[in-house]
Amino acid sequence: MHTDWLRALLVAVAVVQLSSFCTTIYLHRCLAHRALTLNPLVAFFMRLHLWLATGMVPREWVAVHRKHHHFTDREGDPHSPILKGLWKILLGNAFYYAREAANPETVSRYTKDMEDDWFDRALFHRGLLGLGVGIVLFVLLLGPWWGGLGFAFQAVTYIFLSAVINGAGHAIGYKNYDNEATNMRLVAWITAGEGLHNNHHAFPSSPKLSVKWSEIDPAWPLIRVLAGLRLAGLRPPS
Ligand SMILES: [Zn+2]
Ligand SMILES: [Zn+2]
Repeated sequence: MHTDWLRALLVAVAVVQLSSFCTTIYLHRCLAHRALTLNPLVAFFMRLHLWLATGMVPREWVAVHRKHHHFTDREGDPHSPILKGLWKILLGNAFYYAREAANPETVSRYTKDMEDDWFDRALFHRGLLGLGVGIVLFVLLLGPWWGGLGFAFQAVTYIFLSAVINGAGHAIGYKNYDNEATNMRLVAWITAGEGLHNNHHAFPSSPKLSVKWSEIDPAWPLIRVLAGLRLAGLRPPS
């Protein structure tokens, strides 16, 4: 049908947005920085979604990200545009991420507080399996042609948005605080708040990434709703 492409586009955009919310709320604010806690069912849903849409292994993501905070823009930072050049990170962030994620020493050193459960061992550590199941679900929903294209589109968009945060988020934009990272308001709108990266490096353990009225952190209202429903717990300001 002639609207099939539109349906595929809408599904892909919705999936990327959901991936952005799961990345910032679950992987980043909850697991990597312990800025909030999540109800186990909510955490499981986010883990499952990320597995199907991105094949991301939470422990690896947390390890690479904590190492980035440890060595920000110094030797040892897995994806610094200052060290490697902005274009290299914008185009090759996925490669730099995968290279560091494949380093078992990085993973064991930076995730000592995390334990693998049965689901990790059986499913979530198998990123390629997750991507394979994700593609099958897209194909079942949208047909082989638009399903395949839609899945590829959401994957490439997610990879690109991650590269923008890791690359441009340390090179382009404005600063509220004196650190290496930068804020990009418009990027924050489409990355569930992650574009407010300068604020984040100033307060890594804050569950909220915006600090000014003109800055919008789309994940924050959702976190407040989850907290109101007792599905999330907020770390008191330190
Ligand atoms: Zn950073
Ligand atoms: Zn962080």
